[in-house]
Amino acid sequence: MENSRNIKKRIRYKDNEEEPATRQPMVLSERHRRYIRYALRRANDAPDQMFRLGCVIVKHCAVISSGTNNMKKTHPRAIGYDYPFLHAELDAMIGVDADILHGSTIYVARQRASSIGLAKPCSFCLAQMRKFGIKEVYYTTYGGGIEYMDLR
Ligand SMILES: [Zn+2]
Repeated sequence: MENSRNIKKRIRYKDNEEEPATRQPMVLSERHRRYIRYALRRANDAPDQMFRLGCVIVKHCAVISSGTNNMKKTHPRAIGYDYPFLHAELDAMIGVDADILHGSTIYVARQRASSIGLAKPCSFCLAQMRKFGIKEVYYTTYGGGIEYMDLR
């Protein structure tokens, strides 16, 4: 049965990868919720309070890194993409050894003024996650839902 939510959007990346399908977990364990809450707390550390996103990278049930988006910074690899400022995902990935990133899980959350917002990773961040072998990403949706993408 084809669920319309799971039909892949035929968006092509700059490196010709196809966007992974977004999925809604059947059951979301407390462990995943805890890391999403952690990412939300990190979102509140974002220097630009207008655009608060936080990211946590987890491997073997341990937080290995976290980050926030930053409108005042960018990254050489992000130049040429639509939003070339430093995204929370990249901020969290910077400085972490590639072999540690490999097989990890990323959680991204967006805090809006009085609600939770959509934190779906952009094509640039998804390409970086795939490049480093990150296996899946969980992110908040409008109204506090959680979706994920399997990147393997
Ligand atoms: Zn991004």
